[in-house]
Amino acid sequence: MMEVAFLGVGEAFGASANTALLVNRELLLECGPHALLQLRKLGADLAKIKLVFISHFHGDHFLGLPALLLAAREDGREESLTLLGPEGLTRVTQELLYLSYRKSLEELPYEVNFVEAGEKVRLHGYEFEFALTQHSLAALAISVKRRKKKLTYAGDGAPTEGLVKLASGSDLLVAEAYGSGAATHSSPVLAAQLAKKAKVKLLALVHLWRGLSKDEVEKAREIFDSILVPGDLETVKI
Ligand SMILES: [Zn+2]
Ligand SMILES: [Zn+2]
Repeated sequence: MMEVAFLGVGEAFGASANTALLVNRELLLECGPHALLQLRKLGADLAKIKLVFISHFHGDHFLGLPALLLAAREDGREESLTLLGPEGLTRVTQELLYLSYRKSLEELPYEVNFVEAGEKVRLHGYEFEFALTQHSLAALAISVKRRKKKLTYAGDGAPTEGLVKLASGSDLLVAEAYGSGAATHSSPVLAAQLAKKAKVKLLALVHLWRGLSKDEVEKAREIFDSILVPGDLETVKI
């Protein structure tokens, strides 16, 4: 069993919290400005979070890192924490900590280990794989496997052949469906086509544009019928 809590399902500028997932209460996928607030609302134990994945360097996906790192310190964290993401994550985190609170990683009472997304990464009993999406800057999708359960989180960006392969056979595919018509984002219909091609069991649409018409989701359901549109703080078990 894998538990996936949707901390937030929103885009960058809407009324929902920024998209972020908490898997098995120990993996945080994305850390936008609302991540800590949503973790607090869910009653999550920050000391139990082993790994944080950042898909790309857009604010709604990584600007919550300083608050998360320092809140974990306030909560008395001692165990090391893994940060997994694109090249440059170490420098970005260091700069953010300084800009936000004049702090450095070296001042934290626990260790932060940076891991750059490679071909296949095995950490904390999970297997992670990655694919690039088509976004306005380098953006990663990730698959998370443990005990025959597979979750794919597509991050931001239009689907690519690499993403179809990555998502193949997933028990749950969480895909952005911003649907603005931009070539650098996905949409409900594109996500449904991806889910169908990759033969996933369940598709969850997140990161929907605040002005998106409900008809777009209905169109997607005609392509792939197992679609969930979760709300902030909803949990799914796969
Ligand atoms: Zn983005
Ligand atoms: Zn985004």
